Amino acid sequence: MDYLEKAYCMNKTVRIYAAITTDMVSFYQKTFNMWPSSSIAFGKALTISSIMGCTYKAGERLNIYVNGDGPIGKITIEATNGNVRGYMQNPGVFLQNNDGSINIEKAIGNGLIEVVKDLNLREPFTSSSEIIKGDISNDFTYYFTKSEQIPSSVGLGVALNKDSSIKASGGFLIQVMPGCKDEYITELENNLSKMKPVTELIDEGYTPEEIIGLITNNDYELLEKIELKHECNCSKERFRKGLKSLGKTTLEEILNNDHKANIKCNFCNKEYDFTEDDLKEIIFEL
Ligand code: ZN
Repeated sequence: MDYLEKAYCMNKTVRIYAAITTDMVSFYQKTFNMWPSSSIAFGKALTISSIMGCTYKAGERLNIYVNGDGPIGKITIEATNGNVRGYMQNPGVFLQNNDGSINIEKAIGNGLIEVVKDLNLREPFTSSSEIIKGDISNDFTYYFTKSEQIPSSVGLGVALNKDSSIKASGGFLIQVMPGCKDEYITELENNLSKMKPVTELIDEGYTPEEIIGLITNNDYELLEKIELKHECNCSKERFRKGLKSLGKTTLEEILNNDHKANIKCNFCNKEYDFTEDDLKEIIFEL
């Protein structure tokens, strides 16, 4: 089971979130047959989005977009307090660096990170920042500092097995609140500098609590544990509305040419079949 732990440290002036997302990322890797660069980029984006979904109150929805110009294309993640679904344009990307390691920076490319928050107010709130590195971790660290004015540190990792399946996935987010003393920040930086890269920790099976322990030198107060899971709210009724919005002319074309419509959900790959009678019924309602 994937889950997140939320903790305070440094006299409650620092918030830490750590998450394991192996099950969710494995689901997407298998369902969409993701290749290595795609898997790692998507897994990291899914992890930080899952964490961000737990930084707001229940019921508030977040849509997070990584809009790079690299071969991966656009990554879209929706997150609401532990329930997450995501989509990437091109799951079939595998680029390597000269040393044989998997490249994601070029696979993502240049562009923008966009975060749309629906906090149940009248208008959703959008904020964005540049993709400065393309490794997701540094890009979101920059996003929090620049767009949300919260000094933050993000560490994300996805480890793959030899057959490219997901071995482990997860990460952390550290956020410094106003009033945090400089000496606290120095202490955290010190702990972080002594830590192994998060990919290695995840690979070695560290739990969220153990990661929080390393970051804080075991001086923390656990606040909450939240289950993280893939959840898609697609339904035949939703896709029926989508078809209806295409209009009479387009639907009549589909009816005359194909006599049916099959629609696959981008987020979970579930298929919905609309028969000739279904299509006639939708057209009749227009
Ligand atoms: Zn779906």
